[in-house]
Amino acid sequence: MCGIVGYVGPNSSVAVLLGGLSRLQYRGYDSAGLAVLGSDGVLETRKHAGKLKILIDDVDASPLVDGQTGIGHTRWATHGGPTDGNAHPHLGDDGKLALIHNGIIENFAPLKQELLDVGETFTSETDSEVAAVLVGRAFRETGDLTLAMRQVVARLEGAFTLLVVHQDRPGEVVGARHISPLVIGLGDGENFLGSDVAAFVEHTRRAVEIGDDQIVTIRPDSVEVTDFAGAPVDTREYEVAWDASASEKGGWSSFMRKEISEEPDAVYNTLLGRVLDGAVAFPDLGGLDDSVLKSIDRIVIIACGTAAYAGMLGKYAIEAWARVPVEVALSHEFRYSDPILNERTLVISVSQSGETMDTLMAVKFAKEGGARGLSICNTMGSSIPRESDAVIYTHAGPEVAVASTKAFVAQITALYLFGLHLAAVRGSLSAAEVSENLTELQAIPAKLAEVLVASAGIGELAGWMADTRSVLFLGRHVGFPVALEGALKLKELAYIHAEGFAAGELKHGPIALIEPGQIVFVIVPSPRDPSSLHPKVVSNIQEIRARGARVIAIAEKGDAAVLPFADEVIPIPLAAPLFEPLLSVVPLHIFALELATAKGLDVDQPRNLAKSVTVE
Ligand code: GLU
Repeated sequence: MCGIVGYVGPNSSVAVLLGGLSRLQYRGYDSAGLAVLGSDGVLETRKHAGKLKILIDDVDASPLVDGQTGIGHTRWATHGGPTDGNAHPHLGDDGKLALIHNGIIENFAPLKQELLDVGETFTSETDSEVAAVLVGRAFRETGDLTLAMRQVVARLEGAFTLLVVHQDRPGEVVGARHISPLVIGLGDGENFLGSDVAAFVEHTRRAVEIGDDQIVTIRPDSVEVTDFAGAPVDTREYEVAWDASASEKGGWSSFMRKEISEEPDAVYNTLLGRVLDGAVAFPDLGGLDDSVLKSIDRIVIIACGTAAYAGMLGKYAIEAWARVPVEVALSHEFRYSDPILNERTLVISVSQSGETMDTLMAVKFAKEGGARGLSICNTMGSSIPRESDAVIYTHAGPEVAVASTKAFVAQITALYLFGLHLAAVRGSLSAAEVSENLTELQAIPAKLAEVLVASAGIGELAGWMADTRSVLFLGRHVGFPVALEGALKLKELAYIHAEGFAAGELKHGPIALIEPGQIVFVIVPSPRDPSSLHPKVVSNIQEIRARGARVIAIAEKGDAAVLPFADEVIPIPLAAPLFEPLLSVVPLHIFALELATAKGLDVDQPRNLAKSVTVE
């Protein structure tokens, strides 16, 4: 998920790699490391958990051998906490080979077992080390690093970019790409690899994109690209148009824009390795084994802000599937109320950073009260997972913008996965029903990519609303938390009054707010929804239209019933009702971003807010 860089050429590889890693820092990371091949033919690695500065200071204090071949990595932990030992590179072939990896190797557990059975040993908890050991073994047999890589990638499932160097192959870096990103930088007598062009833009603007399922071998004077079967492929060279400041954000104008574009990946990666043969696979739910899950008679989801809206969606799904009562509480309210807790209560905490103080305090309080604890968290090694009986990490990758976007869809995905797991364990859904829902969930990333394309016009919409002083959001059922999320994003980013309402509540008060010109976003349920909410929401739209509201409807593609009543319709692809929020929320994220941009505001660091709220 994070940064990788590879180099072969006449210059100091340590300097090139550290420079590349510095420019990739915008991607966010928790550890950093290097492997370089000295001119004396010795491979040396150095790696540390924490900021890149720690690695740089260490290398300054005690220099690495310097040669002309090397790889560098910044890690965002997915398997194993952020420790020095888990940082990359990982070694194979008795320390003669070094490998770095971005992504997730889904089938690492059986591969690791196979390697343990033949006497291999491991020093980390990562999925990546399995690849290092495998490539090392294949190289020992073939003496050909590219061939070794080809043999190994055929065995790996998941998403990965891998780079390897071997002490017996100076002047050569081999990379492979499956779903995760990789680009080539072409120099004069030197070549580069990077997870994006920021890694080498300081040295060259000539880049070559390598396609999915391709392997690249760079040497100072050559670049060879093949597919996974070994057949040569044609590549296309292009000129990087970035300046240095754009490269700080990987070419995006803001982290938030970049992170919204990553919403499909966030869902995809959170599902990786967790769906097996139509069932949910949670190999390690720690203290929450099946017997504990069967004994649970109540669930409380605790969270703050956007994560609490993910929690509300979790309630709808878990109650529908697992038939266990679920409450959603704001962590700070829960902590200071007098909740009834015992060992049959499961408290699920949701926090991107795992450090949200309000939630951490509530988790500790629930534990003292005898409840079981499950954490949904995006940051390995953080405090809340440590205080919990089990954790489901969302694999959204680092989120830098203060306002959460991709972490939100990943949290919903994790809660839904848990809901389906619970339903399977408790027998409230049949295996076929679980599998059907998982298929829906697995279809979301591609549909999210469609939503991103369909939302291209939102910038213009927001442009003419730049002077708006108030925006309302309406939704029913799972559309209600989406309405709340749309309103919160607008408050956070555009500093204007925004409210989300349950559409049915309108007539009980909020309709008095509607006056001519009032902008109202309406999240319209699918006309195929069996609970027939659709006509009710269409009636709500007519009620507010009659009072002069300007209606922007987010509605299923082809929903003709809303067309006559909405001023604008943003279409979303078809999905089963519970899954629609994963799609309908994205236009609202984009709208908040665009409106704040139109007002000239800093979307990454809104005033008065912090990314990780570590005070109560
Ligand atoms: N899954 C690997 C790990 O946890 C790589 C994570 C990354 O992409 O940085 O070490």
